[in-house]
Amino acid sequence: MKKFTKVLSTVVAAALMAVTFTACGDSSSTTEGKNGTIKFGTNAEFTPFEYVVSKGVIGEFDGIDMAIAKQIGDDNNKDVKIENMEFDSLLVALENGKVDAVIAGMTVTDERKEKVDFSDSYYNAKQVMIVKEDSSISKASDMADKKIVVIQGYTGEVCVKDLGYSYQSFKKGTEAIMELVNGKCDVVVIDSVTAEKYVKDNKGLKIVEDNKQFENEEYAIAVKKGNKDLLDEINKSIKKMKEDGKINEFAAKYSDVTDSGSSSESK
Ligand code: GLN
Repeated sequence: MKKFTKVLSTVVAAALMAVTFTACGDSSSTTEGKNGTIKFGTNAEFTPFEYVVSKGVIGEFDGIDMAIAKQIGDDNNKDVKIENMEFDSLLVALENGKVDAVIAGMTVTDERKEKVDFSDSYYNAKQVMIVKEDSSISKASDMADKKIVVIQGYTGEVCVKDLGYSYQSFKKGTEAIMELVNGKCDVVVIDSVTAEKYVKDNKGLKIVEDNKQFENEEYAIAVKKGNKDLLDEINKSIKKMKEDGKINEFAAKYSDVTDSGSSSESK
């Protein structure tokens, strides 16, 4: 009888706890039975990593990063939410606690590492130049006296700044490409995989690489400095996705690119 009472009180206590959790927790956006929600910040202007469609893998958001974010949620039994904002605002949103993590084809840089913590990398990329098919630009130094366009806050802007060339910056990749298509600039410097997508979608453009000038970049997920619990969850999931080939699978699905750039082999 005593034992029964004890079991009963444990059950009642557990039930009470569950009620308390539901009442006080951030349950509004959490599906029943889930362990909470990861709010990811992104800038859905970066095909094939993140872009808006009518029905994507997370709400209206689709792409390689969005599939990865969804998988991180699934692996940790958590819901995922996407906050779409300007690329420049992402790390501030992280520092302010507006989002829990940032997944945005974001390159790990020393400057960014001062503000946030990065996960293990999940993808390799580099900067390339997009030019008109008949352009004479064949290496980075050919851009010196040309009209260069970059996207604000991207590593492409940092690369051109480091070269010491003047440039114009736009908020969106699509705006930058339109400048080039309309002949208002000579070259757009942007990440390789996104460049491939633009060249495919717009006639008369080609990609020029300069691997001596533009170093390998690694994409990773950012969390607030010191958020070790979330970082561990994310890293575990990334490791699994590299091992079971999920990242390559997502890359192939969204970019129709055979050499996906996934960093699984290099790690
Ligand atoms: N990889 C580039 C950077 O980190 C561009 C990322 C992006 O536009 N989403 O700056």
